[in-house]
Amino acid sequence: MLERSKNETPIKAGCYVCDHKFPDIIHCREHIIEEHRSGFDVSGESDFQYRSDLTFGDLEWVDENIWVLLREPELGAKWHRLHLSYHRVFPFSRRVIGVEGATIHTVYVAQCSPVDGDWRHVYIGHANNCLDSAYAQHARTASDSNSSIIPLESYLANNLFTEDPAEGLRWDLQFMLHDHEGGWTFPNAKVSLEVEKWLRAQLEAIGYLVGSDRPEQIAIA
Ligand SMILES: [Zn+2]
Repeated sequence: MLERSKNETPIKAGCYVCDHKFPDIIHCREHIIEEHRSGFDVSGESDFQYRSDLTFGDLEWVDENIWVLLREPELGAKWHRLHLSYHRVFPFSRRVIGVEGATIHTVYVAQCSPVDGDWRHVYIGHANNCLDSAYAQHARTASDSNSSIIPLESYLANNLFTEDPAEGLRWDLQFMLHDHEGGWTFPNAKVSLEVEKWLRAQLEAIGYLVGSDRPEQIAIA
């Protein structure tokens, strides 16, 4: 029972600001970021700039305004506030405290060049080392003499928006999935692959074009 609840996916998510309901958390986050801009201090010249300017405080505010409908053994289902329920809701529930010096397992989202002016073109990867180095390795183009570190040119390199990870990482989309402080991690590569697959499906469902270097035929059990 405990193990099952650790993997729970909400029945639906709801926006506390306007009471709209959504099939999942990422969809609801996207709605709040797009539709409740008055909650933030930023305007942004482009969609990308607007997203980049959001602070961790802004993103915390987003999650504080998300409600999740969770299954309850006796009641059937009950609404809970997401930020008080991370421990119950997949994939946040799979995070564990990292051990200093041990390998980390993380999932990240990077901006790719806009397609026809649409910024919803991103790369999802997972890493077991420092995110900046993972980004730098994947962003390296074939013309770089050190490109042999990654034998196949990555999707990110082919669609590179910026070489600077500080600018290219999409914190609005990886919020609470990657910990920049390194305090927590996913327990192993299998879980980070599950999270990567989950996030990809979530983003594709709301119109993102998601690239990855993962062959489609790898099935996650
Ligand atoms: Zn709303």
